[in-house]
Amino acid sequence: MSVTTLVARVTHSPEETVRLGREIASHLQPPCLALLEGDLGAGKTTLVKGIVAGLGVASEDEVTSPSFTLVHEYGTNVFHADLYRIEGARDLSTLGLEDLTREPSTLLVEWGEKLGHDAPRPCLRISIEHCGGDERKIVVEKVTANSSE
Ligand code: ADP
Ligand code: MG
Repeated sequence: MSVTTLVARVTHSPEETVRLGREIASHLQPPCLALLEGDLGAGKTTLVKGIVAGLGVASEDEVTSPSFTLVHEYGTNVFHADLYRIEGARDLSTLGLEDLTREPSTLLVEWGEKLGHDAPRPCLRISIEHCGGDERKIVVEKVTANSSE
């Protein structure tokens, strides 16, 4: 498995994070699993607003946190899940999300770090760090299989 950093940037407002999400959308070729990591209030949902808008399947205002409903679908094949309220280590199959990684779909998962080690390999790992005030450090890594695997 090799990991390449695609984006490492500090944003200074929610609007800037949404704009960065739009840029990140161009790196998401379905089927794709993107895991978003970062504390509560880091900006994961804000970034997803930009990603979903950038994919052209919904406007940023239509994207809200799926923390109660677990998963939202935008357009036909873009799914946005939030594992915040899920206790303990789970995998996508216990959540009923497993099939979504087989379809030509895009699955964006907040609190992606809660998935166990059996989780399918993500295409993208996105970490967001609160740096104080409105500053957020956002790092996007592309994860690819080695040809020998
Ligand atoms: P999470 O989904 O990680 O819990 P949200 O995206 O729901 O986080 O919330 C992020 C909060 O931080 C929002 O209230 C947003 O307005 C605020 N915020 C301030 N600065 C930024 C920034 N640079 N990027 C993203 N959100 C920011
Ligand atoms: Mg959120």
